[in-house]
Order: sequence, then structure tokens, then C-alpha cells
Amino acid sequence: MRFAVVGLGHIAQAAVLPAFRHARPHVELTALVSGTPRKLRQLGRRYGVKTLAAYRGATTLFDSGLLDAVYIALPNTLHAEWTLKAARAGLHVLCEKPLATTVRDCERMIDACARNDVQLMVAYRLHFERCTLEVANLVRRKKLGEPRFFDAQFSMQVKAGNIRTQRALGGGPVWDIGIYCINAARMLFGAEPTEAWATATHSTDRRFAEIPESVHAVLRFPGERIASFTCSFGAADRSRCEVVGTRGSVVLDPAFDYSMGLSYALTVGERTRQHRFAKSDQFAPELIHFAQSVRAGRAPEPSGKEGLIDVAIIRAIHRSIETQRWQAVQTPHRERRPGLAQALRRPAVPREPKLIQVEASHG
Ligand code: NDP
Repeated sequence: MRFAVVGLGHIAQAAVLPAFRHARPHVELTALVSGTPRKLRQLGRRYGVKTLAAYRGATTLFDSGLLDAVYIALPNTLHAEWTLKAARAGLHVLCEKPLATTVRDCERMIDACARNDVQLMVAYRLHFERCTLEVANLVRRKKLGEPRFFDAQFSMQVKAGNIRTQRALGGGPVWDIGIYCINAARMLFGAEPTEAWATATHSTDRRFAEIPESVHAVLRFPGERIASFTCSFGAADRSRCEVVGTRGSVVLDPAFDYSMGLSYALTVGERTRQHRFAKSDQFAPELIHFAQSVRAGRAPEPSGKEGLIDVAIIRAIHRSIETQRWQAVQTPHRERRPGLAQALRRPAVPREPKLIQVEASHG
């Protein structure tokens, strides 16, 4: 599958471009699309990519017959526009999370891909990650008894000026990192929430002029189950989630990172067992699954619908922050949940490549 990567920011440079090597022979990095000529030149040279395009030249590239698919690594509010462009040109789309920033945009993306007979997948790397899938499996097999509540924390110190601090680009902690907590709660409960409540804090720090610093949200799930999480752009690194059942509990810590190995501790009765997983490339498995699904004529998972559900939940969370009332969450029905059979492991990228005209989002 011949890919163009669109947007050469941090995630593209640190993780997506290097992953193509680990996803051979399923995919080929064929073209790069960027608004920054220096990135095109230097990354083109580094990865041996000859087809380089600016955003305004992308339509010609998309229509050229040189490509089968795009990987969209742009700011959140640009995902919809670029998915539509690619779908109309007959290209399959692997899009970074969140799928979009409105439910309407998600629906337009899903419809455009269906109408143009191309596949759409949202880049939820943890749907292929063994530690996460093992935990989902043991919760499903009732190792903890009946799962009753979920709690998660995901935080970091965001850098001033980063896209994550800009409202117009879809910034804010829920869109960027809270989404992992939401997706994990849904995966681990194997269900969709019916109601959301949330509150946000706004400190005077200039990083938080346009977005909340921290958000705490509560989601009610069918069967009297509850999920809560706190996500923050103004606190030290934390990446943890926990499910407590009637007989035991499981803690994932770290739970959501790609730059280190993940780990979980299962406690049943008096006994706790720790399971650690070596660092791996979490991006190559997405590329492989996507290419294999397209080739087999199957819809890839996580699908556009999976992405839409998280966007619907985030919108309800933001409505609750504004109104300070519980908000109903309406989501489409989900037939499939990620399972252990989807686990795919590729070796870690040895070290982060030298970044060109981008800096890490936090630190
Ligand atoms: P960056 O800001 O580092 O990169 C975004 C890139 O988009 C820019 O470098 C730029 O690339 C391009 N771009 C095009 N238009 C604009 C614009 N108006 N303003 C700013 N940039 C623009 O962000 P990230 O790489 O961290 O995030 C990109 C996407 O990836 C987001 O959707 C984010 O949620 C997702 N992400 C996913 C992760 C995961 O683990 N799956 C982790 C981190 C991010 P150029 O100069 O080439 O035009």
C-alpha cells in the first residue's frame, strides 16, 4: 500500500515515518506532504522519498495514481477536510486521533469514505498493543468478577504555543489525552456510556488562555458502572488507569504511552501479579492492520464509527463543563471490541529521530 504522510509535525517525525520500516512489506512510504519546504527536503532525503508536495499541490498528487492511502498527522480541526480530499481522490485514509472535533464532521468523513469506496481508520495505536489487550481480555473473562468502576489519570506539562493550547486547532486536554481515558473505559467495560458530567479548571498560566488546564469527567455506563478520569496539561507526567471489579482490580501504569513499555498489576484476593511489556513500535501495527484490511476488502478497526463515538462523548463532556449538568450521550451501537487476536508487535524504534522544525508537545 503506497502511502503519503500529510503533516510532518512531531508525531509524524517521531513515530509515523520510522514505523514504515517496521511495517514492510505491507506498506511503502511513497510521498510526503507538508507546508514546510525544509522538512520535505530533509525528511525526503532521510527516508528516500522522492515525491514531495506542498499542501496546495496535494490534490494533483492525490489524483496522480502514485498513491493508495494517506496518513493524516495534522492538527485536529484539519482531519475532516483532509480526509474528504483524500476520499474524493479514491485514497484510503488512516487518520490521527481524535477523528474530528464535531460529530457532524465524523459523519461526513465516514460518508465520504463509504461513497468513494475507500476505508477509514482512526489511529488508536493501543488497539494493537498487547498489554492493553491482555487487560481488556482478563476484564472480559471476569478475572476481577463484575467490573464496577474505572478511574484514569493522564497528564503532562504542555509547552506554550503548542497546537494543544490552541482552541482553533482543536486544542485542550480532553481532545488530546482525555480521549485515551475514554477509549480505555469503553474498551474495558465493553460498552458505551449513557451520560457524562465534567468540570474544568482554568489557571492564569498563559498556556491556558484558550483551553482548560485540567478536566475531571464522570461517565455513567449501563449496569450501574461508573468511569471517571482526570486529564491535565499543567501537571507532571502521569499515565494510569484502573478497573475495580467485585473480586479484584487491575492497574495499568504506564497505561497510554508510546515512548516506553506498558505494564499492569492484577490483584485478586491477597495476591498481586505484575506484568511488564518491553517497549515496542505501536505505530507499525496500525499500518500493517490497515494495509491487510484494505487488501482483504475488510473494514479496518478502529473504524470511523469507533472514532465518532469518542468525539460524541467529548462533546457531551464539554457541554457539561459549560452547563454544569449531566449530559446524555448518544452513540451508535458497536459490534466489535478490540481483542487479543488483534495484538501485533514490532520492535521499538531504536531512538527518536532528529526532529526538524518541531518540538515535543511537553517536557
Ligand atoms: P505538531 O504540531 O507537532 O504537528 C502538526 C503539523 O501539522 C505541523 O508540524 C505542520 O506540519 C502541520 N500543520 C498544517 N497546518 C497547520 C496549522 N494550521 N497549524 C499547525 N500545524 C499545521 O502536532 P503533533 O504531531 O503532536 O499532532 C498531530 C496530530 O497527531 C494530532 O491530531 C494529535 O492528536 C495526533 N497525535 C497522536 C499521537 C498518538 O499517539 N497517536 C501522539 C501525538 C499526537 P508541516 O510543517 O509539515 O506542514
